[in-house]
Amino acid sequence: MQTQQSVLEIDLQALTHNYKFITATLSEETKVMAVVKAFGYGSDAIAVARKLIDLGVSYVAVAYADEGIALRKAGITLPILVLHTLPIHCERIIDACLEPAIYSSDILAHFHTVAQKKKQTDYPVHIKFNTGLNRLGFGKEELPYLQEKLPRMNALKVASLFSHLVASEDPSEAAFTQHQIKQFKELADGVEKILPHRPWRHQSNTSAIFNYPEAHFDMVRTGIGLYGYGNSDALNQKLRPVATLKTVITQIHEVAAGETVGYNRAYTAAGPERIATLALGHADGISRAYGNGVGQFLIQGTPAPIVGNVCMDMLMVNVTNIDCKAGDEAIFFGSEQPAATLSKRAHTIPYELLTAISQRVTRVIVNA
Ligand SMILES: *Cc1c(COP(=O)(O)O)cnc(C)c1O
Repeated sequence: MQTQQSVLEIDLQALTHNYKFITATLSEETKVMAVVKAFGYGSDAIAVARKLIDLGVSYVAVAYADEGIALRKAGITLPILVLHTLPIHCERIIDACLEPAIYSSDILAHFHTVAQKKKQTDYPVHIKFNTGLNRLGFGKEELPYLQEKLPRMNALKVASLFSHLVASEDPSEAAFTQHQIKQFKELADGVEKILPHRPWRHQSNTSAIFNYPEAHFDMVRTGIGLYGYGNSDALNQKLRPVATLKTVITQIHEVAAGETVGYNRAYTAAGPERIATLALGHADGISRAYGNGVGQFLIQGTPAPIVGNVCMDMLMVNVTNIDCKAGDEAIFFGSEQPAATLSKRAHTIPYELLTAISQRVTRVIVNA
């Protein structure tokens, strides 16, 4: 069935394939945290989380509290880690039984106060260390502070200790990554020794799962790999894109040499050409960076380059050499034209292209 509007197809069989491919690299004891932030990397966080829970993940991670609340409303009962805890969200986090990442003395003190106010004991929290990203996390100079405070905070229980790698996909940064792994171990040891229990440890994102088995620890956090991209050509070959972005040709114009197409007359036809208008624009997440030939669609399996500037709700492609008509389907990314290939042409990464697809595009689950 050809699509008659813009849709983002979410292929749950591809998701299953990716999950199995990723977990095949892990030891039996290593648990998996599925990262479904940003609407499941632009797909459908609820459908993806449900499928992965069936497949056996132990934890789900989101960036912000409201993303976790949406999962709870959908009936997901698995533990949910909120990676970026903001002070204003702490009450909501507890009300929805979400588990905060605690990355600074301020957020620790604030969350502890809120947990006490809500009469909590042993509320699970996750201590995040900064080992080089310099984004979120306690530094090594704060270890004595943590050692002093954590054992006294009865409202809280340290469920895990974690950190995030800077460049796990980049072999030229291997020495830095090894250093981060060593730092993390030292910090985790330092906190663990003052606790009456042993919290889980986790440091690996998708690329680290494949490149640094010594950083698997108790659990790994995988995002992009589940969605079918692995930050390397070799891995991209083995994983399957979960999301396919499709749309439809709504009109075809025959233009003569010298006529221009689109806003600001950015494209001039070299000869008689056929220009197809598609029902996707920058408001749907096709950045203007893909305009003027940087991006292309597949129509009847043939590349049709974007001509001129991407408009808000539409864009135009050159179909001079393609036997097509209004109503035909046009594919932007998917297995035939991976988001990794397209995003590279626009000097960005699949993470950005996938998460940019706006909520205006209907999500359709396939191969459930
Ligand atoms: C987004 C994120 C991940 C997932 O990374 P991928 O490269 O998509 O596997 C893991 N950990 C943290 C802290 C993140 O923010």
